[in-house]
Amino acid sequence: MAFEGLAERLQATFDKMKGRGKVSEADVKEMMREVRLALLEADVNFKVVKKFVNDVKERAVGQEVMKSLTPGQQVIKVVNEELTALMGGEQSKIATAQKAPTVVMLAGLQGAGKTTTVAKVANHLRKHNNRKPLLAAADVYRPAAIDQLETLGKQLNMPVFSLGDQASPVDIAKGAIEQAKEEHCDYVLIDTAGRLHIDENLMGELQDVKEAVQPEEILLVVDAMTGQDAVNVAESFNDQLGITGAVLTKLDGDTRGGAALSVRQVTGVPIKFAGVGEKIDELDEFHPERMASRILGMGDMLSLIEKAQTNVDDERAKELEKKMRSAEMTFDDFLEQLEQVRNMGPLDDLLQMMPGANKKAMKNIQVDESQIGRVEAIVRSMTKYEKENPSVMNASRKRRIAKGSGTTIQDVNRLLKQFEDMKKMMKQMTSGQKGKKKGKGGF
Ligand code: GDP
Repeated sequence: MAFEGLAERLQATFDKMKGRGKVSEADVKEMMREVRLALLEADVNFKVVKKFVNDVKERAVGQEVMKSLTPGQQVIKVVNEELTALMGGEQSKIATAQKAPTVVMLAGLQGAGKTTTVAKVANHLRKHNNRKPLLAAADVYRPAAIDQLETLGKQLNMPVFSLGDQASPVDIAKGAIEQAKEEHCDYVLIDTAGRLHIDENLMGELQDVKEAVQPEEILLVVDAMTGQDAVNVAESFNDQLGITGAVLTKLDGDTRGGAALSVRQVTGVPIKFAGVGEKIDELDEFHPERMASRILGMGDMLSLIEKAQTNVDDERAKELEKKMRSAEMTFDDFLEQLEQVRNMGPLDDLLQMMPGANKKAMKNIQVDESQIGRVEAIVRSMTKYEKENPSVMNASRKRRIAKGSGTTIQDVNRLLKQFEDMKKMMKQMTSGQKGKKKGKGGF
């Protein structure tokens, strides 16, 4: 999970501020020293860190800070806003040309995830924007890239334009646009060739394609796991080719997360998408504000709810949200939630998105996904009365349930404990949120 280390460190630093009545310049200095180290440890580019820390300091010790909120809240607010600004402020969507088809060129080093991302973006455009994309196989350099794109196209049931690996990328790109016009496709996504390192041939080839087809967007695909290298790559591509946006891939594997915080700042172009897994639907739109909240441990309720909405039907998603907020859960709800959650992706990721989520609180409620079947069996062996009133559970009931579900009393006990912990956490989360709204509580 990206940003885990950074989020933990920042939270620990802010915890120190709790209970202080007033924040002095020295306090802010001390906090920002920690923030600086945390960011550097998260592999954020040092120039970016320096600017960030200075910006926050300037605002935090200025007049803005000494008003209504508590000192911790004030500094968090500033850090949150500055983090959001650092990652681009507003969310930036993929562009649409005035005249169809919109041509989007994807560039990047070999292995960054370009070909995969072409398919992911195409899928996203169709699923969320109702578009009809055509994929162009212009990576004539990496063996098997063309086959890979053709396979992905088949999987998505989308047209792929290819002229084999002997044709020039310019001809392929032009041909693809012609075919898109004939077939009334409104987006052409061009998979271009990468190299292991930046070299003149690569840049020359990309410039030729750019010139020939005048794309609306040139998206640079960078591997977030490469940390500072990703930032250097982004800088060079931007200088030599000119890019309009970036896609960060493998954010699922990047525990330091520094690249996301630096790429935008160093190149000035927005991050448009984040790749969060190998599968075709594992691509998220990049929301700076939500990402900043996540880094600061404020959770990401919006993303969570959005996820719920695309994967389960609306009614059930609303129900789920309501139940979570009210913390009135029965075992039937619990079961239903487990089923919905199972459709949404790995549990750990989802738990991280909840407000108030931090590692310590999560320890007792982590549900091993392979155990979900067992949990279901236990719940299904309960009577209606037991499901609605878990407190009546005594030894003989537990024995009966264990027997009925083919599990052990320990399994039943563990589930009861998890259920209670989850309820407790939801209660804390919701009371914390109410507190925040009224401007009380929190820090
Ligand atoms: P290309 O050379 O840039 O076209 O790279 P590919 O599209 O072939 O991707 C290289 C590898 O990275 C493949 O194994 C992909 O499955 C993997 N990959 C791409 N995006 C992601 C991502 O967001 N997360 C993870 N975990 N793997 C990814």
